[in-house]
Amino acid sequence: MPEESKRKRLERMHAEYEVLRELIPSPQCALHFKTPFQLLVATVLSAQTTDVRVNGVTPALFARYGTPELLSRANPEQVEDIIHPVGFYHTKAAHIIELSSQISTDFNGEVPQSMEELTTLSGVGRKTANVVLGNAFGIPGFPVDTHVMRLTGRLRWRTDWRSTHPDPVKIEKEITACFAPEEWTNLSHRLILFGRSTCHARKPDCADCPLNDTCPSAGMWA
Ligand code: SF4
Repeated sequence: MPEESKRKRLERMHAEYEVLRELIPSPQCALHFKTPFQLLVATVLSAQTTDVRVNGVTPALFARYGTPELLSRANPEQVEDIIHPVGFYHTKAAHIIELSSQISTDFNGEVPQSMEELTTLSGVGRKTANVVLGNAFGIPGFPVDTHVMRLTGRLRWRTDWRSTHPDPVKIEKEITACFAPEEWTNLSHRLILFGRSTCHARKPDCADCPLNDTCPSAGMWA
């Protein structure tokens, strides 16, 4: 198969994204939250587990410790008891208590609104920061999770699609360069939702996939 030119790839990316836009017209953040602080904590808790599990523990957590001030003064063992179902509860409890303390002391009790500041918080990397920026503040952010890595690879939206250990920061830079900033957050949501519904990790449903006409990986698992 001849190498696709950069221009052709970009045209295909936009055409495929149009299909995803029609398929998923109003994507929403799957984590439940009422404030930016709650989304930040929920996202830290969501590492290595499902959003459903996180949504199962956050009502009890936020009923008791709904602000940075309250959570920063929490007893770690009591927090661990509440968040136990999300796994890695010891580390996660330490992170959310520490980041609450940092927000209280370094940011006047308010979740900061920049990538640079958010990533100074305990347990917060670029993916979490992008989730908070895009979903809590309406600031363009493109979270790269396992679904985004898989989809951008299979669709060959990124040039290192052959890589078995792709770099999420590189993916973020390469994909965001191809789309308008106001689209970044929903682009990530749509890729994640489409990865969950159709382009599964082990057995993608290529036969019924609306992208199978143009996807370079279509049918590889048949
Ligand atoms: S055709 Fe198959 S590999 Fe390509 S996006 Fe659809 S499900 Fe994924």
